[in-house]
Amino acid sequence: MEPEETDLQTWACTWCGGAAEDEESLLDHQEWCLGDARSNSRLIAEVGLRDGELTQEALVAEAKKRRERA
Ligand SMILES: [Zn+2]
Repeated sequence: MEPEETDLQTWACTWCGGAAEDEESLLDHQEWCLGDARSNSRLIAEVGLRDGELTQEALVAEAKKRRERA
């Protein structure tokens, strides 16, 4: 597959350096972003293992716990 030349803007998260597809995805992401890519990966992996799926609500709730603990 050829890399597509698009004029689609990439929405970068200034906290963790991650990229989102659009502004809405970025805002959803920032509701649970922990500020660095490694912590985010761990959060996603742990919620995924625990719940068997990833939901916005679960990610936000878990991120909130971690922020309070930190
Ligand atoms: Zn982020």
